Amino acid sequence: MARPLKNPEEVAVIGAGFAGLSAARHAARLGRLVTLFESSGLYGGLVATVGEVDDLPFPGTWSGQDLAMHLLEQAQKVGVRLVDSAVARLDAGDRMSLIDAEGREYTPEAVIVATGGSLRKLGVPGEEEFLGRGVSRCATCDGGFYRGKHVAVIGGGDGAVHEALTLSKLAGQVTMVCRSPMRAKREHIDKLDARENVRFAWDSEVTAVQGDTKVTSLALRNVKTGAASSLDCDGVFPFIGIERSTAFQLDDPRIFTVGAARDGFGGTGIEAMAEGVSAAEAAHRLLLAGK
Ligand SMILES: Cc1cc2nc3c(=O)[nH]c(=O)nc-3n(C[C@H](O)[C@H](O)[C@H](O)COP(=O)(O)OP(=O)(O)OC[C@H]3O[C@@H](n4cnc5c(N)ncnc54)[C@H](O)[C@@H]3O)c2cc1C
Repeated sequence: MARPLKNPEEVAVIGAGFAGLSAARHAARLGRLVTLFESSGLYGGLVATVGEVDDLPFPGTWSGQDLAMHLLEQAQKVGVRLVDSAVARLDAGDRMSLIDAEGREYTPEAVIVATGGSLRKLGVPGEEEFLGRGVSRCATCDGGFYRGKHVAVIGGGDGAVHEALTLSKLAGQVTMVCRSPMRAKREHIDKLDARENVRFAWDSEVTAVQGDTKVTSLALRNVKTGAASSLDCDGVFPFIGIERSTAFQLDDPRIFTVGAARDGFGGTGIEAMAEGVSAAEAAHRLLLAGK
């Protein structure tokens, strides 16, 4: 009797950031038929536009894009099938059903949710209005527009410090606007401290982004005293954390959530990759047990 054909999408991976790319590659190396979905047309997720990725435990200097392309090539070499479309819907019944943005249906046996997150917004007047006219979420992409000018970086975590370090090589002055003590790694803070063109506005939060045709200043409020002030600047780069994607996190043993999409995620790229690999192993064991 002919053996039934193998399901061409045994494992579906949603999201091609570091977690999803690593998960897809590893599951395929374990012999699984893997389909990887990416909605943005850009591989590498949050780090796709980072000029130099820190904290990698292997030699060499990598941009986020180069590392993502490397992971993608590795994944494709072992047979991962790419679908350049968002996953619009996932239903977990007896038979799982996944629908992409073009309405195509897939029936995976295990799903790895690696949908990551997006940069949190300040949520103040002017932020959206001046996006692309002084407000930017990518130092590597837009830093060159601020050569010799004054930019403000909002936030005190590793992402903010990373972007401030990039900007300090281009801008005349960088002001870090921090609401609370910095949470970034000591090593990163020390590097920033050593830059002569970086200064700090402590205990300060942004209440509005102001300008005419483009950004000219920020309205600030001191969180301890309530005092209002204004900071003249040409550019604003908010990096105040990541808004976790909560899509597709169904309570089902066939669905694994990894990386920045997972509540309690540690934050670094290498952790995202490691979680992707662990989830691929778990999905593989699950499918072995079901056969
Ligand atoms: C500014 C900044 C700098 C950073 N620098 C570093 C650094 O130097 N070193 C380091 O180790 N870490 C760094 N990080 C942290 C790093 O970005 C994260 O650890 C990592 O990106 C998490 O990867 P992820 O795959 O879980 O999520 P993400 O990178 O968010 O990837 C998720 C992917 O899923 C896709 N997606 C979402 N929804 C869908 C859907 N419905 N269908 C299909 N696809 C979907 C998204 O388009 C995205 O490509 C930085 C973060 C920021 C914000």
